[in-house]
Amino acid sequence: MHLQKEPSFRESVDLMFNRAVALMDLAPGLEQKIRVCNATYTVRFGVRLRGEIRTFTGYRSVHSEHMEPVKGGIRYALGVNQDEVEALAALMTYKCALVEAPFGGSKGGLCIDPREYEEHELELITRRFAYELAKRDMINPAQNVPAPDMGTGEREMAWIADQYQRMNTTDINGRACVTGKPLNAGGISGRVEATGRGVQYALREFFRHPKDVAAANLSGKLDGKRVIVQGLGNVGYHAAKFLSDEDGSIITGIIERDGGLFSADGLDVEAVHNWIVNHGGVKGYPEGQYVEDGAVLLEEECDILIPAALEGVINLSNAERVKAPLIIEAANGPVTAGADEVLRKKGCVIIPDMYANAGGVTVSYFEWVKNLSHIRFGRMQRRQEEARHQLVVDELENLSAAMGTTWSLDGTFKEKYLRGADELELVRSGLDDTMRIAYQAMSNTWHARDDVDDLRTAAYIVSIDKVAKSYRAKGL
Ligand code: GLU
Repeated sequence: MHLQKEPSFRESVDLMFNRAVALMDLAPGLEQKIRVCNATYTVRFGVRLRGEIRTFTGYRSVHSEHMEPVKGGIRYALGVNQDEVEALAALMTYKCALVEAPFGGSKGGLCIDPREYEEHELELITRRFAYELAKRDMINPAQNVPAPDMGTGEREMAWIADQYQRMNTTDINGRACVTGKPLNAGGISGRVEATGRGVQYALREFFRHPKDVAAANLSGKLDGKRVIVQGLGNVGYHAAKFLSDEDGSIITGIIERDGGLFSADGLDVEAVHNWIVNHGGVKGYPEGQYVEDGAVLLEEECDILIPAALEGVINLSNAERVKAPLIIEAANGPVTAGADEVLRKKGCVIIPDMYANAGGVTVSYFEWVKNLSHIRFGRMQRRQEEARHQLVVDELENLSAAMGTTWSLDGTFKEKYLRGADELELVRSGLDDTMRIAYQAMSNTWHARDDVDDLRTAAYIVSIDKVAKSYRAKGL
């Protein structure tokens, strides 16, 4: 057991940032400007609930406004505090820059355990929080666009959008004030699965880079890889499900709040997820082995470890015992700066959070664009695609007639081909492209420079460079 005191989450992010800027040629003033959080707003508001007034504390932090609007989720959890939202806002800046979503970074949070409240109470609380933020332009389609995070989802986003629109009835772009909305309230297909889907695409891209795979002492593809996932929330559930259903990975471990499950033969993600929904935890699940101290599974042998819950879960107290050769940070900040160093020395490859979980904000970007364009996402492209496809079909049919054959395209194929891609397909392919391009930028930097020996530093270098360029171009 290490007795060293670890830095806070925000300090940990700053340390990682510093490691990267030390290898860059930035003016010291600019370096400092990029590192710091521009502003953090704290609000305390009262809501009358169950016959008494309850006071809630919420935050919205803006890390960098080199591009506007600024973007980032709103988290509902008891542990929310200023240090945490500032760290998360900083990560949003780097994340958006890395995947080229044209936003600055922001993050918000409310100190609350949402499980303690009824739905109508949560609605009252959320609307009041949204009112407090919106009246200070911290919810606004042009300035600050929240999204779901831990403890929030489509339902909360719909309330926030509605609250903003009631306060700004003439804002024709009002729907774009928040992303992650339900489909019938201006959302986009594939946003719920987006972060988990992004984790899957990130891993697929990683396994297309033999040099990177070898650096992690692995070989082959995702098929047959043993995966342990911490947290079967929205991100962990989708990542684990897609990896096992579509890529042949074996989910050997699942860690939840109340303990962990292990099975060398693989767990059925859907069945475990249903069990959690019905029983509130993994305890009692009929298959696999249950361990009360789920965190020990972080130290179990596997090929890929996916922390998809809270920050700081891999720290100086357990890093030395973590055996996974590859960690993909589906959560924000799951590995502390100290643990990162320990793991690097052991040769573990870490696919960093700012890249690994960028699928959410990438699809948020598509949703925001869809809302602002007031046209179904992909409709323009679809028209062009349809015209092109019609040409091909006509040509093929003419050709076959000229040759005197009776050959024709199979009916369902022809129908699908002419229809073009639907919204979900467009979202997924846009996400896939984004994840591939960002990975390549990161991996190229890793290998092109002798002084860069990990993907996280490479990711920071790529994204800080983009933020710096934007400051240099536009001024402060
Ligand atoms: N909360 C998510 C994140 O940490 C999504 C943010 C967004 O879509 O704006 O990246």
